[in-house]
Amino acid sequence: VRALRPMPDVSESLYLFGTMVEIEIHGVDDATARAAIAAVDAHLETLHRDWHAWRPGELESLNAAIAAGAPFTVDAPMAAVLTQGRALACASDGLFDPAIGALVEAWGFHADTLPEGDPPPAAEIARLVAAHPRMTDLTISGREVRSSNPAVQLDLGAYAKGAALDLAEADLRAAGITDAVLNAGGGVQVMGRHGARPWRVAIRDPFAWGVVAALELQPGESLHTSGNYERYLEAGGLRFSHILDPRSGRPVTDIVSVSVLAQNGALADAAATALSVAGAKDWPRIAAQMGVENVLMITGAGEIFATPAMRARLAPVGGDFPAPV
Ligand code: ADP
Ligand code: MG
Ligand code: MG
Repeated sequence: VRALRPMPDVSESLYLFGTMVEIEIHGVDDATARAAIAAVDAHLETLHRDWHAWRPGELESLNAAIAAGAPFTVDAPMAAVLTQGRALACASDGLFDPAIGALVEAWGFHADTLPEGDPPPAAEIARLVAAHPRMTDLTISGREVRSSNPAVQLDLGAYAKGAALDLAEADLRAAGITDAVLNAGGGVQVMGRHGARPWRVAIRDPFAWGVVAALELQPGESLHTSGNYERYLEAGGLRFSHILDPRSGRPVTDIVSVSVLAQNGALADAAATALSVAGAKDWPRIAAQMGVENVLMITGAGEIFATPAMRARLAPVGGDFPAPV
C-alpha cells in the first residue's frame, strides 16, 4: 500500500529511565505508531525497574546476593545485558566497569537527583578501590550469576540507556516500524530514514546553550554523549563529574563531553563513558580496542578532538535539527 500523501510524523515524549524519551515515527499511520510507542513505553518501564541499582527490583536483589556471596538466577534480558557489559568492560581495560556500584553510591551518583554534601573521605575511596570490583569477577552461566568478589555492586547507569534503546528499537521493528528516531537524554538511536533523507541530530555545546555540530545518522546507528555538565556533585566551590575513574575512585576532571557513534547503543554509551575516563591522551587506544571509529571529545580547556571518520560526518550547524544529544 502506498500512501497518496506523505504521512505526518507521529511523536511522543515519555518520562522513562529517569529522563525524557522522545520517540518520533515516520511513514506509518497514527494507530500503528501509537501502538508501537505504547509497547516501548511498557518495556522501558519494566527495564528501568529491573535494572535500577538502588530500588527494589531484580538488580538490587542480585547485588544483595553478590554481597552475601550467593549465586542468583536472573531473567534472560538481565543475563544478556550483564554479558554484554562484561565484554565491554574488558574491551575498555576496565575504564568502563559497571561493577563499581559501591563507589558510585559513595559519591551519591546512584540516585536520580543531584547529590549533596561532601565528597567521600579519601580513606573510604581508597578502601573501595582496593577491593577491586570488576565485571571479570562475574561468572554468568545461563541465567545464573555469581561473583568471586563480594565487593562487586552492579550499577548499569553508564550503558543501560544505550542497551534499553537497542531493545526499544527491536520493539518498534516488531510492531512494523521501519523509520524512527528515539532520543533519550544524551542518547539517540535511529531506524531507517526520515523520508528521502537520513535523520539529523546535533551534538550539544557543553559550554553554551547551543550545539557544536550536526550530523546525519544512517539507519541503525546510535549516538551517545557522556557529559559532566548534567549530573555532578557541587561541593566547596568545585564540581565533581558523575563519571568515575575506577582506578582512582575519583571523578573525571579534564573531559567535558564525549560523543560516540556506533552501530549498537550499548556500545556507544559504554564507550562514551570509557573514553571520558581514558582522557585526552589514551582515548584513541581504548576506542580502537572497543571497535569504535566515530568519536568527538571536548576537553575542559575547550579543545575538540575527533576521529577522521567522525570529522568527515560533521556538518556545520544551521537550519533545523532536532533536540541536541
Ligand atoms: P550520562 O549519565 O551522561 O549518560 P554515562 O553514560 O557516562 O553518563 O553514565 C554515568 C553513570 O554511570 C554514573 O552516574 C554512574 O552511575 C555510572 N558510572 C560512573 N563512572 C563509571 C565507570 N567508569 N564505569 C561504569 N559506570 C560508571
Ligand atoms: Mg549514559
Ligand atoms: Mg555512557
